[in-house]
Order: sequence, then C-alpha cells, then structure tokens
Amino acid sequence: MAIWNEKAENMDRDELRALQLEKLKKTVRTAYDHVALYRHKMDEAGVTPEDIGSLDDISKIPFTTKQDLREHYPFGLAAVPMRDIVRIHASSGTTGKPITACYTKKDLEMWAECIARVATAGGATADDIAQISFGYTLFTGAFGLHYGLEKIGCAIIPISSGNTERQLNIMKDFGTTVLIATPSYAMYMAEVAEKMGVMKDIHMKCGIFGAEASTEELRQELQRRWGCVVTENYGLTELLGPGVAGECMCRKGMHINEDYFYAEIIDPITGKVLPDGETGELVLTSLEREGQPSLRYRTRDITHIITEPCECGRTSHRIAKITGRSDDMLIIRGVNVFPSQIESVLLTMEGIGPNYEIVVTRHNYTDYLEVKVELIDAAMLDRFSDLENLQKKIVTALRTVVGIDIKVSLVSPSTLKRFEGKAKRVTDLR
Ligand SMILES: [Zn+2]
Repeated sequence: MAIWNEKAENMDRDELRALQLEKLKKTVRTAYDHVALYRHKMDEAGVTPEDIGSLDDISKIPFTTKQDLREHYPFGLAAVPMRDIVRIHASSGTTGKPITACYTKKDLEMWAECIARVATAGGATADDIAQISFGYTLFTGAFGLHYGLEKIGCAIIPISSGNTERQLNIMKDFGTTVLIATPSYAMYMAEVAEKMGVMKDIHMKCGIFGAEASTEELRQELQRRWGCVVTENYGLTELLGPGVAGECMCRKGMHINEDYFYAEIIDPITGKVLPDGETGELVLTSLEREGQPSLRYRTRDITHIITEPCECGRTSHRIAKITGRSDDMLIIRGVNVFPSQIESVLLTMEGIGPNYEIVVTRHNYTDYLEVKVELIDAAMLDRFSDLENLQKKIVTALRTVVGIDIKVSLVSPSTLKRFEGKAKRVTDLR
C-alpha cells in the first residue's frame, strides 16, 4: 500500500506532537495578532498566546462556530491582506450566508499535499485517469481534488458535475479508473450506467468519495455496483475543503493529516474535551493555514478518534465514520434520529433500491416520520400481500435500530429525486 509522504505520514508520535505544539503556538499568535474575532474571544476568556505551553492548553481557547464565520462574512477571518490571497472559495450557503475561505499560495500547496496523501491512500497513482465529477464552482471539492491528483500525476478529466450520460460515455471512452464524486451521485451514476448497459466497458479501480457523510452499507453497495474499492475522505470549507482526513485501503477510519490539523472530540452539550475513543463532536484547529487560520472550529460532526495503529503503517490517528451531523439530527417525539441510521437499515433490505426520502410532519403536536423508498420490481405494487409483508419487515427493522415507529411508503422504481452533488434527503415540514 503506497504512502505519498512517508516522512510525514509515518512520523513518530512524540515527534509529531512536538511539531503540532510548535505550529499551534504560531497559529494562535497569528490568529490573535491579525484576526479581530479571535483576539476578542481570547481577551474575553482571559487567554493570551503565551498561555499555550502544551497541546492540552488548547482547551483554554474559546470555540469558533459557523455563526462566527457568517457574522464575519465575507473576509473578516482573513489573517493576511488581500494581495496575498490567491483563491477564494465559499460554501453553498443554502441555510444562510455562505462561509468563505481565503487561500494564500502556500495554503494551496499545503492543500494539494493533503489531497495527494488522501488520494494515494485511496489507491490513486500516476498511472490513473481520474474523473472529477464535483462541480468546478465556488465549492471546494473539485479544485481541492484537482490539484492534489495533479501532484500525484494522475491524468485528470475535469468534467464537473451533471449530464450523467455524458459522464458515463467519457468514463468508457477515456478509460477512467478513478472517480471523484459524492457517494449519492456515484450511486446515481451506477444506476444510469446499468440502464445504459455501459458498466461492462467501465473499469474503475477506485472511487474516492466525499463531501457528504455516508454509511458503511452504502459503501458496500457502491463497491458492488462499480466493482472497485471505495474510500471516503473528510474535509470542510471552514478548515480548508477536502483533505483534512481520508481512508486508506484498510477502510477502518480516515487518517487525519495531523501535521496540518489538530483534532479534538468534545461533548456537544458541555463543550468538555472527551478522552480518545469517546464519541462526540469533532473540533478542528488548523496548524498551518496562512490565509484563514481556524481555532477550535466546531464541525457539528459526530464521530470518535481511533488511536490504535493501522495495518497500513501510517502512524496518524483516524476519524471514525461520521455517524451524523448534529445539525442533521432530527428529534422525533423526543427521540434523537440520525438519517444515517435509517439509511443503514434500508440498504440491508432486499427488494428496495438505495434511494430514499425522509419527510417529517407534525399533526396535533405529534411528530411523524415517513420514509419513502423505491421498489426494485415495479410489478410488486400489484401484489398487495407481498408489498404489505415487505413494508412490515422494513418498519420492524427501523423500529429496532431507530427506536420509534416510522411510516414506510414503497414507491415505483426511479421516481425519487437523484442528486448530482450533496444529497438532500430530509424534508422537515414542522
Ligand atoms: Zn491506514
């Protein structure tokens, strides 16, 4: 199993911690001196950059939230003058003002290095032809992967998102071996490829998927359909974009680029730092961002950190699969429900496809959750007892995992919405 940067990725843990501390001190100093938000927060908490004498002292620094970034839109968190900024990205801003990210030349080099590591871990090499099916827009996904894959030496097809049939014809004609997409779009592409009958002419080696959380069951399904290894990677616009962490071939958690990011897990309610291995909210601090340093950013992503050595030889700690985004969590009749729990149940059931929609409604002060899922065989709609049996089976399985009664509606094949970017499967009508 290839490693892109042996020196960094196999670094002795003590040496790594010393390096992290040195970089943390510098980052805190820069953030304090050049970003008003961080200076105000630290002053209010009575903390100075000199108070950082060990890595554990990071807990003295106040958290940064998405709200902080929105309030300082567009460039309030930049730590350098605009003449040193060479790229600006932004999140889609579907739920409010967008989040912006400013990069210096050095930041872009660091970003390419992070992606080169993640993509190599996911199986990409200079021999590969990599198709980037993320949109080349303000969104960080496409450009992030682009320069990292270029650094490795892949032949890149910058096709961007959309026009699925064309995507598949290009895959067939150009001989694409690596696909970059969201897991939900990769699933849709597989569906269309099967319908077009081109899957036999596509010879994928690896799918390097990210930009949305997915379940282990969805990975298995993607691997089966594409006939290749599927790895997942993690990142967010607030910190860099993709490249914070990525899975190796062992597929047992995403290796964090720890020389660039310091990860903590906190109790999302109390804000207390939790010991390694406990599940909570991921908090990240950038250790080398020049354009826009991040101090203790609350990602809202729920996970835990894996510290056991990985079979691949990398010494870095790993982030376990994101089990949910605290923003995505639905509270139904007092029970916490993550859409990922529902997905993991649906993908193990026979007779239904991988696409689903969740609708939450409220009648007479009571919350109701409905899941719409597609049948594989349309003829089943006419076989009432079979249909009812399948429905009951799904309801029972969902009750066991989620803990509440969920209404299941079985619909005709290919009738639910498909997504070319990040999937939006939940409609909350409350
Ligand atoms: Zn590994």
